[in-house]
Amino acid sequence: MRKEHQRLGLTSIRNRILFFALLITLLPSLTVGWLISNMMHATLEENLEEKLVEASRIVRGELDLWFRERNYDLHVFSNSFVISENYSKYLEARLKSGSNNSELSTHLRTLKTYLKSVKNKFTEYDNLYLLDKEGDVVAAAAESGGALSPLLPEDMAQQLQQSQFFKGQVFFDVQDNIPFVVMGTPLFTGQSEEFEGVLAVRVSLAEIHDILKSASESFSNAAVLQAMLVRLDNGRYFITAQQADIFNTPIFADEKIMIEGDNGGSLTYFPNHLGERVIGRLFPLVFTDWGLILAEDYDTVFARVEETRNRNYIFIAVLSIIIGLAAFFLTKQIIRPLRNLTEGAQEVADGNLDIRLPVEKNDELGFATSVFNEMVAELSRSQAKLEKMATQDVLTKLPNRKQILRIVHNRFEYYQRYSIAFGVLMIDVDNFKHVNDTYGHIAGDEVLRDIGKIFKETLRSFDSAGRYGGEEFLVVLVDSGDDNAKQVAERIRQAVENHSINYEDQTIKVTVSIGIAMVSPDDTNENSLINRADKALYAAKENGRNQTAYLNTIN
Ligand code: GH3
Ligand code: MG
Ligand code: MG
Repeated sequence: MRKEHQRLGLTSIRNRILFFALLITLLPSLTVGWLISNMMHATLEENLEEKLVEASRIVRGELDLWFRERNYDLHVFSNSFVISENYSKYLEARLKSGSNNSELSTHLRTLKTYLKSVKNKFTEYDNLYLLDKEGDVVAAAAESGGALSPLLPEDMAQQLQQSQFFKGQVFFDVQDNIPFVVMGTPLFTGQSEEFEGVLAVRVSLAEIHDILKSASESFSNAAVLQAMLVRLDNGRYFITAQQADIFNTPIFADEKIMIEGDNGGSLTYFPNHLGERVIGRLFPLVFTDWGLILAEDYDTVFARVEETRNRNYIFIAVLSIIIGLAAFFLTKQIIRPLRNLTEGAQEVADGNLDIRLPVEKNDELGFATSVFNEMVAELSRSQAKLEKMATQDVLTKLPNRKQILRIVHNRFEYYQRYSIAFGVLMIDVDNFKHVNDTYGHIAGDEVLRDIGKIFKETLRSFDSAGRYGGEEFLVVLVDSGDDNAKQVAERIRQAVENHSINYEDQTIKVTVSIGIAMVSPDDTNENSLINRADKALYAAKENGRNQTAYLNTIN
């Protein structure tokens, strides 16, 4: 029974309570934790996007300004008297006499000298060119370098018409890999409304690195804002704020970030040019075919979410342990009295009615336990009553025939084992029929009851007297010799003789005849002893009643 209890495992009440306690702890806390970190995540994303949009505005403004300055500078140079004067004269001479003309070379030299002087003043200018209407180079500040024409944008004429300015795609020099663009302004000689040539400049973009760098630094409150410029057509990085020499080897932006949404890109998780996990957005720059990518380090942005989540996990773990322990002790309080009850019931089933369980608490289980105790006590009382009913004579309250015979039997066994002698008296009321006839049965009963009392008064506590049948009694005298037995018998006989029974204003007197027998080694069982007592009684009756007779020989 007890072992079965321990084998119950998951089906036991304790484990079920434990399971449900943990379930109701974990379910809400994990859900809430998950919701909170999701909300934080979304909020951080929103904040980041706002921040990136604002930063993009600043960078775009600065880049726009940079282009405007270049545009302005070029306008200043193109409008210089040296250029317009010499270029118009050069055109005139070219018209007149072809290219091998000394006048032509004089103007060209002057133009070249001017271009050289400008280039020397502006370090970001790789080269300056004077182009004719068709886009062919007339003069250049430096002769070296490849052909210019592939670097010019296809829509140069359109750009010039629209904004008196053109700019080309980003290129990388074969030798030093510095990204550059070619841009320019139209040249007017004053002879016609149309432009007669173009002043173009090859500008290194290394300077733009500073724009990105200062933008990213001015914006970094906690995390460093990553700013990169890419070619929109192929996604190649050409400037990043973090690395000035990004252009040494071609690196292309992750295609995830290059997918433009309806609003020109959306917040995306992607690996940056260093392979770090970042979150950012692509901003196409409308005034050029460049893309601005702004991003922040993923771990830095979401460090707080992670921290909160970890804190939540710790909190949930601690909570689970506390709830688990509470459930454990609670179930212990329930299980212990339950187990006591089960074990108590088992004891009762095994016949132990003396068991009483401790009532520990004034709760339902305490109540159940005290009811159990009450029940067992009642059972015990009923059993005692039953036992008495089975062994006691109702009228005289003496042991009944069965019980007194059992006592004789036990005595006999005791005698056999330890040789402790004993004797029996068979007592019969004389002429009891006459008593009944004279005074009635009820009076007869009263007589029998009184005789029972006389036995109790005359006998020692360890001797026994029982009702053997009708008006016959059997007395067992423990550890007694025949002399003593005779004395006791005589004492009883006298006591009865001297006793008066008062019944309904009448006095009834009775006598008894007593047969005495002592156990002897010849007895094989108690029956022969009882028989001898019976025979002795018979002799006493024969002899005239109201006397004792001793018979100790087996005939
Ligand atoms: P003797 O001296 O030879 O023993 O004569 P007796 O009349 O006592 O013997 P007998 O066996 O003839 O009668 C016994 C009577 O005891 C008969 C019966 O009615 C009566 N008796 C037996 N049990 C009870 C009892 O419980 N109550 C009453 N009132 N009488 C009983
Ligand atoms: Mg009789
Ligand atoms: Mg009799």
